[in-house]
Parts: sequence; C-alpha cells; structure tokens
Amino acid sequence: MSSGETPKKWMDKPPYRPVDPKEFGEVKWRGHCQCGRVEYHINREKPLMAKFCHCRGCQVLHGAPFQWCAVFHKTDLTFPKGAKDLVFYSSKEKSTEYMTPTKVACGYCRAPIMDEGNNVCLLFPELINVEGSYDEEKHRKEAFMPKCHIFYEQRLVDVADDLEKWSGMDGESERIDMYGKPLKEGEKL
Ligand SMILES: [Zn+2]
Ligand SMILES: [Zn+2]
Repeated sequence: MSSGETPKKWMDKPPYRPVDPKEFGEVKWRGHCQCGRVEYHINREKPLMAKFCHCRGCQVLHGAPFQWCAVFHKTDLTFPKGAKDLVFYSSKEKSTEYMTPTKVACGYCRAPIMDEGNNVCLLFPELINVEGSYDEEKHRKEAFMPKCHIFYEQRLVDVADDLEKWSGMDGESERIDMYGKPLKEGEKL
C-alpha cells in the first residue's frame, strides 16, 4: 500500500472492512476505547511481537513516557461496530488524511487505538478487556509481554527490567543497559 492511496478505499480493506463472524473465526481478545464507540476483535492468541517504544513521537502523541504496542496482521483484527468513528493522523505528513503509516484513534474520546503500518497493525493492548479475574489478567500479561524496549536512548524514565533495550529500532541499533550505556559483547543475551 502506498502513501498515495485514495481516501475511503481504506474502508474496504482489513482491518476496517466488515467481516462475517464465521469467516473471522473465534474471537480471542476484545478491546474498546474509553467511550465505547470503537471496538476491536482479535482472532490471534498471541501478537507476532510486542514492544515498548520510547521515541519522542510516541511520548508526545500518547502523553506518556513510553508506548506499548502489540503487532498483528491486519487480517487478525476487525472492528465489529464498523470503522466510522475512527480518525487518522500521519505524524510524518502532519495530516489527518488517511495514508499508511498512520495513527488510529477514536474520533470521539480520542483514545489511541493503534498505529497502522504498511503491512501490520501495532495495536495498543491497554484497551483489551479483561474481566478482572487473576487468571485472565495473568493470561493477557503473558500473551502481550513485550520482548524489548526500542528507542530507549530517548527515554524519559529508566526502566529496571530484564528486557532487551535498543538505542533505536530493535536489531538495527545498539544494545544498551537500563542507564543507556552500551552493552559489552559478553553481556548480550
Ligand atoms: Zn471512544
Ligand atoms: Zn515510538
């Protein structure tokens, strides 16, 4: 998908196009925005990947020190109430026209829903409903456990955990420790 895509065409494609529940299959996770106008269903048990992003863009657009995202195929996801309440924002173009990559939010309560990339969706798992039982919460925590911190060099807070920390993109930048010091060869996992 190119950035020059015609507006509204997005509604006919995953994850926005309406999907027959039989075709979609068993719903593994459900999430909704704060006002409830936007709902999503996920048919995959575990995300392809989950990570924390400390980049400046995420800090500003999320109003939070870092962002937590879980990566899914676009077809793993559907919006059962339709996509009419979604709004888009391209941080690269500073535009609310639809193009990928884009930030997707509820147009009413403004809760961030996901980042849609060219090939995958980076969903914000805070929105996923858990009924509150200890087992369910533990289940979600395990399924969505981030693999690493990215753009950790731009962090506002140090995070004391044993997850990999990358100065920029994972696999394409330098591994650093919780204080931002480069890891020595032997310290790499
Ligand atoms: Zn909402
Ligand atoms: Zn980021």
